[in-house]
Amino acid sequence: MSDGVSSLPWDSAPAAGNAIGLYARWTPALDAKIEAAQQHLRDACATHGDGLVQSSSLGVEDMVITDLIARAKLPIHISTLDTGKLHAETLALLPQIQERYGFDVEVFTPVVDAVIEFVRREGDDAMYKSIELRKACCGVRKMEPLGRMLKGRTAWITGLRREQSGARGDVAFDEDDGSGTGRRKISPIADWTWAEVWAYVEKYAVPYNPLHDQFMPSIGCAPCTRAIAVGEDFRAGRWWWEDSTKECGLHAKS
Ligand code: SF4
Repeated sequence: MSDGVSSLPWDSAPAAGNAIGLYARWTPALDAKIEAAQQHLRDACATHGDGLVQSSSLGVEDMVITDLIARAKLPIHISTLDTGKLHAETLALLPQIQERYGFDVEVFTPVVDAVIEFVRREGDDAMYKSIELRKACCGVRKMEPLGRMLKGRTAWITGLRREQSGARGDVAFDEDDGSGTGRRKISPIADWTWAEVWAYVEKYAVPYNPLHDQFMPSIGCAPCTRAIAVGEDFRAGRWWWEDSTKECGLHAKS
């Protein structure tokens, strides 16, 4: 464990069962955290109006936020990135969100010609060859469509939590996103623990990616995500072959 920030509930005793059974624990602070998260969302909505978007990775934190938005009946636009490399289980959440909440999630995809050209030039396994090529793949498949998703937006909502990694240990509820445009990044569950996220999922029967049941706390593209082992950091399964900050650029500090 690199620091105390990312300690996980299964560090000492992994158990059999699904993610809810493994991790969910309602804490005395959680009711107040839920109310505070919804207040952050209401404030962001009031401040930014149509300039606000939830950028959902479809990971469990973002599913909780979508549920919070639905429960508060907030008119917040929801978008996601389909890199072309996501697991089928991840994409299966899109119709589930529609069925459960009645929300259409806007899906942003990479420019097809740019992907074809990148794969032709560097290979379909370019991400394993160097950090530079991995970041270039993220650039084509994630950063460019993210730029389109955020175009004209003044704020975006993320599922970042301080506990996820040392690099995220100082995530604020509302901060400049580092783009140089003054755009804000809103992280309404920044102070929630992993146990609290799953306690919320259990209480409100939030749909979630079944890959979380297979020791994948952080789920990205299929070639770049693996299950983590007992004692590993939360994001150790992302780009596991790299000695890096485990970030793709979406949440890089300026
Ligand atoms: S996470 Fe992997 S497959 Fe996805 S865009 Fe980045 S390098 Fe490419």
